[in-house]
Amino acid sequence: MGHFNASDLVTLYGIVQAARERDVAVIVGVSEAERRFIGIHELVALVSSLRETKGPPIFLNADHTHSLSGALEAAKAGFDWVVCDFSSLPFGQNILLTKAAVTAVKALRPDILVEGEIGDIGSGSAIHASAPDRSGTLTTPEEAGQFVEETGIDTLAPAVGNMHGVLRSMLCTQARKHLEVARIRAIKQRVGIFMTLHGGSDTDDGDLREAIAAGMTVVHINTEVRLAWRRALEQALATQEDEIAPYRLLAPALAAVRQVVAERLALFTEGESQRSI
Ligand SMILES: [Zn+2]
Repeated sequence: MGHFNASDLVTLYGIVQAARERDVAVIVGVSEAERRFIGIHELVALVSSLRETKGPPIFLNADHTHSLSGALEAAKAGFDWVVCDFSSLPFGQNILLTKAAVTAVKALRPDILVEGEIGDIGSGSAIHASAPDRSGTLTTPEEAGQFVEETGIDTLAPAVGNMHGVLRSMLCTQARKHLEVARIRAIKQRVGIFMTLHGGSDTDDGDLREAIAAGMTVVHINTEVRLAWRRALEQALATQEDEIAPYRLLAPALAAVRQVVAERLALFTEGESQRSI
């Protein structure tokens, strides 16, 4: 499944329109900052009203939630999924806090999915000047197994060569991020639960196909959406000098987001259409 972050109505509508165009289910993700900007209850209301139109399922995920109170707030508000991200803490503490979050959130909403995260893949969707060496923090099948067993999470987000954001040098070249597919396969065999690939933006298409075949259930795309939004908005501002109607200036940004999301959804569901033939 494709997971795309929404920061505002333009990105939210672009994501939902692309999912309807492709007729595939989609996960709308909102980080803590994105939730603050739109409003947590407003997000649930918006998504619930979008669901009233016939179309593929739309799921709402509380992406990268760094506190138990934040996870509970999202669960209470009506989110379908919550990412409890304590991955910046030492492994033992990450296990304890994630386990406590699973227990508390499920007590409130047994139907909600809880995702846990291990390893360091950097924080936030951004344009980075250089790639830090994170080879020492890649997830091993053993620690993934221990983490899943001790926390009771539904979904695991491991560090498998993926990275949040993109490198500045990648913006003007054909360079793409690459994944450790054998590691993904080994972790999946060990844990056997849903797995999420964070930081999927600007990852090589072939690597994404292989990662999905190796067991990734969800792929997160955020930076690509934000870049498409910004570039289209810049162009609209440059070419429509006297325009002041936001809906005219923002229409190209919505179309650009829709296109990026539709392309990624097409890639993610390639295997599915082959299987159904
Ligand atoms: Zn992420």
